[in-house]
Amino acid sequence: MTGNPSLVLNADFRPLSYYPLSLCSWQDTIRLVFSERVSVVERYDQKVNSPSISFNLPSVIALKDYVMPQRKPAFTRFNVFLRDNFTCQYCHTHFSANELTFDHLIPRCLNGKTTWNNVVSACTSCNLKKGRRLLKFTDMKLLKQPSRPTSIQLQNNGRNFPPNFLHESWRDYLYWDTELQN
Ligand SMILES: [Zn+2]
Repeated sequence: MTGNPSLVLNADFRPLSYYPLSLCSWQDTIRLVFSERVSVVERYDQKVNSPSISFNLPSVIALKDYVMPQRKPAFTRFNVFLRDNFTCQYCHTHFSANELTFDHLIPRCLNGKTTWNNVVSACTSCNLKKGRRLLKFTDMKLLKQPSRPTSIQLQNNGRNFPPNFLHESWRDYLYWDTELQN
């Protein structure tokens, strides 16, 4: 993403997605603004100048029509890792997506299925260590019994992984509904 992306909010002013964070390039943002599908909520100090028009680049935009979040999250590698907070469910260590693997609690060779309830995130060494065994035949402990997450759970987990760059005008919209600490 090159400079000055905008944060894209749903019509209820929550980000469309937290992880990856819903961002839009400034070029696409301008197209959306001119198509009148979004309203501009906040702006950068930087201006865009053309012979006919000059305005500040939007930093936060909101869709005019509400997009329904999918009720059932797709069963994908990414969503399994996100459900597990990119944490190996055996050694409790945090990894990046390309360092994580799937482990089948009931191994495939014992007819274990590739489902939300039978697949957990595991680092390569834990996966190798467990091998094709049932957990009860190892000295390993599962962090959390896996189940199908809701979209809300995945969204909430995604908040733990903000991108490197957060423009100050985004912060109110990213964290305004988290509970206040006293
Ligand atoms: Zn591990």
